[in-house]
Amino acid sequence: MGLKEELSKCVHCGFCLEACPTYVITRSETHSPRGRITAVKLGIDSVGLNTCMFCRRCELACPSGVKYSDIITSVRKPNAIEKVLVRMLERPETLTPFIKPVLRLNGSTPLSHEEEDYDLVLFPGCIMSVIFRSTVENALRFLKSRGYRVKILNGCCGLAHTHVGETRRAEELISKLKEIKKPIVSLSSNCSAHMKEKGLNVYDFSEFLVKFIKELPKKDMEVTLHQPCHAHLLGIDKYDRQVLEMMGIRIREAEEPSFECGAGGDYFIFNKDMASQVMQIKKEKTLKSGANIVVSTNPSCSIAFIKMGLNPTHIADLIFK
Ligand code: SF4
Ligand code: SF4
Repeated sequence: MGLKEELSKCVHCGFCLEACPTYVITRSETHSPRGRITAVKLGIDSVGLNTCMFCRRCELACPSGVKYSDIITSVRKPNAIEKVLVRMLERPETLTPFIKPVLRLNGSTPLSHEEEDYDLVLFPGCIMSVIFRSTVENALRFLKSRGYRVKILNGCCGLAHTHVGETRRAEELISKLKEIKKPIVSLSSNCSAHMKEKGLNVYDFSEFLVKFIKELPKKDMEVTLHQPCHAHLLGIDKYDRQVLEMMGIRIREAEEPSFECGAGGDYFIFNKDMASQVMQIKKEKTLKSGANIVVSTNPSCSIAFIKMGLNPTHIADLIFK
């Protein structure tokens, strides 16, 4: 469907407004999905086009099936730093020296591993491989303990490129991933959703556990579960819940667990004020669960939880807790 047809599907009903984190904060039409769609329709260079977090929560709420992501990515342009940043994400090892000064988190070099005649490709995702290397190590350790021969592929799926409007490069990255003939197991659930949407043979890590492992160690613990936005849009966050049930872990529900975390890819770097307001709301909603551990299967969400002073843990880490 072309952009004109997509734009014409919006009937301005406003059902998407309350789903949109930037509208919830500002109560401004400019920073709402409907306002952004109107700006694109009229060809206005609205400030609201840059404040969109690309969480796509509006798409789930829209009764007319407007594919908002196609509309916003048609007008988004990366700034000079984003242009460089998304290229660096393709080679995560180039990010390592910048993690500490930019994010005030400890950065690592990505884990390398390749076995002969490997059965599957473990795809950590760009940010996961340099900020949450221990999660990658745990996932590898677990897969190997169940007899899988693994190759780790450190790189980027192109979700970040799509987010900033570099759609052509995003398609190139997907085409390269499509050349892989083995199943891909992805550790970053929003990346898993993106790759699935683009037709890749990919399993989110939790999905892989549910479909192929079936039996997991039991744990006597309580957690709350965050549902990352793109994973939620595609419905694959249900596997996180199923894995926790398989492990006997009790889930204490947060308020609106799929509410945006505030990270929005690199959004929190360039839109600090809006991002920190979203993080504050998310923190309040999460704390209502009363749980000390937040299960987060997407790295930028995990960064947001660390910034909130909370304790994010990936499913791969829970296995060894
Ligand atoms: S995007 Fe969908 S929900 Fe939002 S105003 Fe348009 S038709 Fe309504
Ligand atoms: S993608 Fe998210 S931030 Fe952007 S308009 Fe939709 S709901 Fe709002």
